[in-house]
Amino acid sequence: MKLIFLGPPGAGKGTLAGLVAKELGIPQISTGDIFRDAIKRETELGMQVKAIVGRGDLVPDELTVSLVRERLARPDAVKGFILDGFPRTIPQAEALEGFQKLDAVVNFVISDDIVVLRLTGREVCRACGAIYHVRNMPSKVKGVCDRCGGQTYTRDDDKLASITNRLEVYKKQTEPLIDFYRERGLLRDVDSSTTPEDTLEGVRAVLGRKG
Ligand code: AMP
Repeated sequence: MKLIFLGPPGAGKGTLAGLVAKELGIPQISTGDIFRDAIKRETELGMQVKAIVGRGDLVPDELTVSLVRERLARPDAVKGFILDGFPRTIPQAEALEGFQKLDAVVNFVISDDIVVLRLTGREVCRACGAIYHVRNMPSKVKGVCDRCGGQTYTRDDDKLASITNRLEVYKKQTEPLIDFYRERGLLRDVDSSTTPEDTLEGVRAVLGRKG
């Protein structure tokens, strides 16, 4: 299946994309993870995007699209994929349309209040990218990833000023994608305001799969 996971920051796209990708045996492709990895490894791409990502602004479309196009050409993505965090603008969605046919766009629906509560408390593993939350979904040992034993940390862009900016950027640049994909008959709304388990059930339901 060729899927897009759409929704504001903190909606649970990353967590759910990880679960669904495993279930379907397809790769989870997160542009945010690609950028964070490049920043960590201090590659040329990393240097280029570090300040932009830290502020919560969007990386230029052309750069992001060419990265995704290359990634989708790899053999593991031929049968299917979940794009998590891409597209984020209408020009990105139009470019994607030019080289990929999609099966569905899962739109995670959640209020701003819950998003802010979730993002102020999110922790991510430095090594494997697993996502935790200090209140809702803590790792068993504070600061240590359950999955790989790596160190967990708060992303720079999960600090309050960046969170507010990311929500504004989402509303202005990404939210119009809801109508874009609804017009194409691809949009599937899923309530993501409760637990990951319930949200996973919701995703299975809209994709016509049983748990
Ligand atoms: P995420 O992990 O999806 O929240 O992404 C983290 C950051 O990476 C975003 O705030 C942007 O700075 C950048 N980013 C991720 N995906 C995209 C995209 N599709 N277009 C532009 N910038 C992106």
